[in-house]
Amino acid sequence: MIPTLHPSLQGARACIFDAGGTLVHPDWPRLAELAEGAAGRRFGAEEMRRAFGEMLKCVGSTGPGGRSIDQTGRHWTFRAMYGGLGLDESACDSLVGRIDAAHGERHIWCGVDADAARVVDELKRAGLLVAVVSNTEDGRLTDSLESAGLGGRFDLLVDSHLVGCKKPDAAIFRLALGRLGVEASEAVFVGDSYAHDALAARAAGLRAVLLDPLDMHPEAVCPRIRRLGDLLPGVV
Ligand SMILES: [Mg+2]
Repeated sequence: MIPTLHPSLQGARACIFDAGGTLVHPDWPRLAELAEGAAGRRFGAEEMRRAFGEMLKCVGSTGPGGRSIDQTGRHWTFRAMYGGLGLDESACDSLVGRIDAAHGERHIWCGVDADAARVVDELKRAGLLVAVVSNTEDGRLTDSLESAGLGGRFDLLVDSHLVGCKKPDAAIFRLALGRLGVEASEAVFVGDSYAHDALAARAAGLRAVLLDPLDMHPEAVCPRIRRLGDLLPGVV
């Protein structure tokens, strides 16, 4: 039986996912251990997840009261997350080095989303092309997906580090569409960053669905889902 699809996917030929925070998640236990070692603070996974979401919300935001996020340097997302949790600059510096070493041993984004495998498989069964477009710092998108157990499932992987452009630039969406052989209007982009995924994909002409598990974006101009399974109502 063909699964029921989320209204945004009706008539679409391709579903393109963001990777980090969407299909794969940070290795929270390792990040907690590293913070304890570097700064003597023990953070819970939920606490870090929320701080990460709040950090992400500031990315691309110019609203009053928003803190500006330095989006340069290794693991800037985690640096900003730990900053948001109250660690000072030297602790954050030390942590970035420790994260980098840990990431060298095993990809730090190696946690799999609980719904990801089934959703991807069902979308493919429904006849959609399924792809990933990810901003990476080091060209290790394939490694991340494989570490999370999602390797070999996708029709196309686009790794910003390898193609030389990144979200929110429309060029990376156009590149993916060209390789998939679909028009922008036939593709849906699913991601957890409002600025870099949802708004950027819409600006490039794609439909967008924002993955917003913590209900942080009531202002969104696109449909929101709480979990990936919501793409297949009644199935996953
Ligand atoms: Mg993401």
